[in-house]
This record gives sequence, C-alpha cells and structure tokens, in this order.
Amino acid sequence: MRSMRMLWLLLVLTCLLWFVPSQRVEARQPAKAQRGSDVLTAKNFGLRTSAAPARDSYAAPAASGGIREAIDIKYKERYKEWKTEFLSTDIGRAQWEMYAHHPRLVITITVDPSNPQGASTGKYKWNDSGELVAATITLGSQVDQGYPSSVYYPVMNALEPFEAKNLIGGSVLAATKIAHEFGHVMKIAGTPEALYHLQSQLIPAYNKIFLSNGYNVNDPRLVELAQKMGGTPVELWEDREYWGEANAMLFLRDRVAKEKFHCRLFGRIKQAVEEYAKNYEERFAEIAKAQGALYPCHWR
Ligand SMILES: [Zn+2]
Repeated sequence: MRSMRMLWLLLVLTCLLWFVPSQRVEARQPAKAQRGSDVLTAKNFGLRTSAAPARDSYAAPAASGGIREAIDIKYKERYKEWKTEFLSTDIGRAQWEMYAHHPRLVITITVDPSNPQGASTGKYKWNDSGELVAATITLGSQVDQGYPSSVYYPVMNALEPFEAKNLIGGSVLAATKIAHEFGHVMKIAGTPEALYHLQSQLIPAYNKIFLSNGYNVNDPRLVELAQKMGGTPVELWEDREYWGEANAMLFLRDRVAKEKFHCRLFGRIKQAVEEYAKNYEERFAEIAKAQGALYPCHWR
C-alpha cells in the first residue's frame, strides 16, 4: 500500500503544482501512515514548495526586500478582491506587513492562467549568507474556484460545503490559497539552503531508483537517500503541504471567528486531518486551541 502511495505521489509530483482536482485524487485515496509532527510557530515554518532547481534566475537580486505584485492588467480587479479578503484578517495583515517591509526577501506575486485554479511557490534565491532573498508566488487566474483533495489539503477542502451554502464567497477560498502559499514561504525561509539543494538533488535520484526497483521503499539505497534528505520524497512533500495548510487554517481561524459556522468548519478540518494527516495533527490542533473565537470549539 505504501508503495502504491509513493507511486501515486510521484505522479502528482511531476505536476509540481499543488492543485489536484478533488475527484481525481479521491478516486484513489491512499492510506495514510506518516511520521513526524511539529508545533506551529513562525520559526517552524520552513519547507520548500517546489522540487524545481533552486537557483533558476527570475529577477536580479534586490537591494531591499518587499512584495512586488506583477499582475497583468486583465487580472488586477480580481486579484485586488482576493488580496482585500486576505488583508481583512489580523493574521493576513500581519504577514503581509512583515514581508512588505522585509529587509532582504523579495516576494513576487503573479497571476498565471496556465494552472487556473491552482497556486504554487518557487523560484527561490539565497544570498551569500544563506538567507532567502527571493520567492515567487504564482496564483491561478481562477484561484477563487476549485477545492483540492482533503487528503493533502484538509483546510482548503473543508470550505467547499460552506461556499455551496453561500456562507462564504470565492474570494475567501482565494485568500485561503494565498495563505497556504505564504505558509510555504515562511517554511522555506527557515530551511537551510544546503538542505534544500540536497533534497532537490536527491529526490530525482530516489524516484529513479523507486521506479526501477519494483517500488520497494525498503531498498537499502532508498533508505540511505531518505536518511540523507530527512525523509522520503512523499514525507517531505506532505510535510511541506501540511505547513501550507496550517497557515491556511491560521487565516481561516481569523476570517470565520465570528461566523456561527466556524466550529462546523473546524470540525471538517479535524475530520480530514484525523483521517489522512494523523501524524501531523499537532500543528493543526495548536491553531484550533489558540483560536480565541467568540464561540470556542473543541479540537479533541
Ligand atoms: Zn502547497
């Protein structure tokens, strides 16, 4: 089962982008059996979001950091709505301000129609001191639509019935996806550059062996590679996505705090986390416990 799950993930990883339509994934929901868990703090964010080479050039290193919004004029109006929704929360404003006034890191945000309902973060660059100085968040041109699978996206997926009942609008979904991507940036900013490069280098080697050895994850060569990288490609990938989801949940915690349905939303997130991400539950539970909402709901 684990091998099949690995194979399935390899297929997904070839897409590089996080968004996978629900139906396709749910038709093959893999059994979940991961290890490892972290407590959510800003310092603990730090896994990369793309298996693409790290030093691909996108922009010249900037003298100072900030957020650069490179939005085509035809997407400006909708982007403004999504951004306004993100900034309607304390956490959204705090994270935006932090990066808008960052001394080094330049985050470029762009809208691209090629993966319309998805989003991704990549094009990372580091300075000579090993500090992250550039990242690009790419939002799909219809990022306010489409709910990814609950298997790896328990937070974004949980919103679906609430939009169906007109309790939230598409811009909440878009802003949640923005928060997910900010989670990736935070996590990689805390990841050593050398580890990122090592993983980028070893993941393809791991996958090549895996595909040629009968999908045997117990192959000593794979065990050794996983030890060097800090996990199998699947484990690295899911840990990264669940950090994105943790930040998405932080945003939603603020966004729906005063809504009567907020415990129902948290209940759906909890159910998916328990079913598919049990070993990562603590990072979600921390957020739920610190919710400070008008109507506290119980995680456990
Ligand atoms: Zn992601």
